[in-house]
Amino acid sequence: MAIARGRRVVLNKDSLEIRNYMEVCVLDQLETVLESLNACTCDNCLHDILAISLNRLPAKYVVTKKGELYTKINNIQAQFEVDIIAAIAQASAIVSRNPRHDR
Ligand SMILES: [Zn+2]
Repeated sequence: MAIARGRRVVLNKDSLEIRNYMEVCVLDQLETVLESLNACTCDNCLHDILAISLNRLPAKYVVTKKGELYTKINNIQAQFEVDIIAAIAQASAIVSRNPRHDR
């Protein structure tokens, strides 16, 4: 069994946090894109579509002060808007072929 050497890093999550901006950007577009596709927006489908979309997009981790507003979100959103919409549409197609909802 491998034993980790050196000091164990413990992040203090009270003041700073690491967030994936891409997740915020996808969430921001999700409803609009799914509505335009007439896709199911139940909780199961939303989560599945979000997970599949994020796996297809580059992660954009940033450090923010806890609770701070995302001021850079517009930059990333503009840069990746086409990719984000395409990823959501592809994920929606995958989920609609094999939905996990009960209907
Ligand atoms: Zn559904």
